[in-house]
Amino acid sequence: MRAPQGDRERHASRVDPLAHVDAEIIALDAVAHAIEEPSESTGAAEGRRATLNLSSNDYLGLRDHPLVRQAAIAAIERYGVGAAAGRNAAERTDLHEELEARLAAFKRAEAALTFQSGFVTNLGTFSALVGGSDLVLYDELSHASTIDGARLSGATARAFAHRDLAQLEQRLREARVRGSTDGGYRSILVATDGVFGMDGEIAPLPEICALAERYEAAVVVDDAHATGVLGTNGRGSVDHFGLYGRVQLQIGTLSKAIGVFGGFVASEQRIRDYIARRARPVLYSTLLPPALVAASLAAIELIEREPARLQRLWSNARRFRDGLKRLGFDTGSSETPIVPILLSSADAARRFSRRLRREAIRAQPVASAPARRARLRTIVTASHSPADLDRALQVIERIGRELGEVG
Ligand SMILES: *Cc1c(COP(=O)(O)O)cnc(C)c1O
Repeated sequence: MRAPQGDRERHASRVDPLAHVDAEIIALDAVAHAIEEPSESTGAAEGRRATLNLSSNDYLGLRDHPLVRQAAIAAIERYGVGAAAGRNAAERTDLHEELEARLAAFKRAEAALTFQSGFVTNLGTFSALVGGSDLVLYDELSHASTIDGARLSGATARAFAHRDLAQLEQRLREARVRGSTDGGYRSILVATDGVFGMDGEIAPLPEICALAERYEAAVVVDDAHATGVLGTNGRGSVDHFGLYGRVQLQIGTLSKAIGVFGGFVASEQRIRDYIARRARPVLYSTLLPPALVAASLAAIELIEREPARLQRLWSNARRFRDGLKRLGFDTGSSETPIVPILLSSADAARRFSRRLRREAIRAQPVASAPARRARLRTIVTASHSPADLDRALQVIERIGRELGEVG
């Protein structure tokens, strides 16, 4: 948004104290960004051709499920729109407590604590749990909120190379030998995403747990892309690998497969209670609105009661990934419904995305970071039909040939 013209003119003679913004915005515009685009329904054409959305995190199609909508509407009618208070407003917390109990059961943990978003969950959890005498070792491709949470906590925050267990072990050994200043670190956390959002890879969680146990570290897994996606009934990566009791903190979002908005951490009761007493977003920010809590409860109910969506998600993911590979595309090491199509340059990714858009297919270009290839990021959901995916494959093949990305 621009400032009204009048403001600009009136102050034209003054030095602009935020002048760096103008120059930097141009540089930012020049870079293709991994910005999430608003998701659209994958079906229902309204007059024009229906957009086939391959960039939605609504893995199970619950975002606009009638029961999820109804739950939100009923909660608004009963409680109003905003929560209008923190955790002390007793009247509003019944629903929140119910959701926390439900999330704990879903994650097979003792307890859960909700936050205002997945991002805020990471900021709040790390800052509550660790500080200046602790160490956080995180996979270098962890989500921005893990990295920010680790930094904000005041702990020593150190990355290890992506999924590199040898380097993780080296960092753990160094930490245990040298320690922080005198007596070593108080606590060490090893943090990783359960499913990596850009590449669709699954973290080597059993090996991470084994290392953490050897060096007396705790494990934090951010299952934003794994909740509702991996494991029995979508319980996440801990369930997928059978690691109950070995991962101290399971972080999740209510905004991806659950289709709503908000975040949570599941853990032992004593850890949950400690975080609840210390996390600043819990203490100083308004609770999740009741409509979102009620909608999340309805969505989790559907996830547990109707596993057919999860099966469709995975059969769609296999169909699409196998199809891309058959056409000669490089899908990297994707193992999940997130399927990158690796391309020769950031420019090719942008052009590919634009061409797809003209054919009413939406997929997000991701610029290459150093040592990482540019890609088009596609996400398959349970809402896609096999015919949708086959059409997408045909169009992708044609554009891929025209741009010289496949032979
Ligand atoms: C999306 C995502 C988040 C942020 O979740 P929001 O609820 O959208 O704030 C955090 N961590 C990971 C790994 C994510 O993919």
